[in-house]
Amino acid sequence: MPNFEYHVAAAGLASAIGVAFGGAAFGWDATASSLGFLAGLSGGMIPDLDHDESKPLRLAGALGGLGFSAAVVGYVTSPGTFFNRPWPVGSAVLAAVGSYFLFNTIIVEIFKRRTKHRGLFHSLAVPFLYGGLWAVMVASAGGQTVMAVWLMAILGVLTHLVLDSAKSMSFNPLKVATADIGASTRLWVLTALVNFLAFTRLTL
Ligand SMILES: [Zn+2]
Repeated sequence: MPNFEYHVAAAGLASAIGVAFGGAAFGWDATASSLGFLAGLSGGMIPDLDHDESKPLRLAGALGGLGFSAAVVGYVTSPGTFFNRPWPVGSAVLAAVGSYFLFNTIIVEIFKRRTKHRGLFHSLAVPFLYGGLWAVMVASAGGQTVMAVWLMAILGVLTHLVLDSAKSMSFNPLKVATADIGASTRLWVLTALVNFLAFTRLTL
């Protein structure tokens, strides 16, 4: 199986080519191109989130924890009556550290329990789910950027799926479901919903 570094390199190369093409064909500006590149590069790591010991999983746990603790710090240091805000620096730091470890642990545990490698996250729904999530996140940046991140995220994840299948003939990159039909169905429904949200420009 291609390892983590191989997937990152391949997704990076595909993303660079994709962004160059987008600039030439659709006139993508700097925002659309750079966010598109980021969406494509990170997309190459997404399917291996379902590997218990994978670097992407640990990375997702760390990033999720950081994002959550940043939000907590922002909240407890803003003035307000609820929770007696703003909190003093010492309490805010404790809250940041605590929420980081809490959220990090929760994310890693959820993925460990609910997934198995080359399972759900290696189905064809995932490129579109990931693209849809990116499109929702950048909805306020305008149509060009939305389209760029959507296309590039799909390209990045597809690069991963195709590389996995090229290394093992038994694995089909276009599989639409896993043995767990219920989970596959939920994944596809979620994917359809997220993409509907993204393209009707409703922000979450
Ligand atoms: Zn993989």
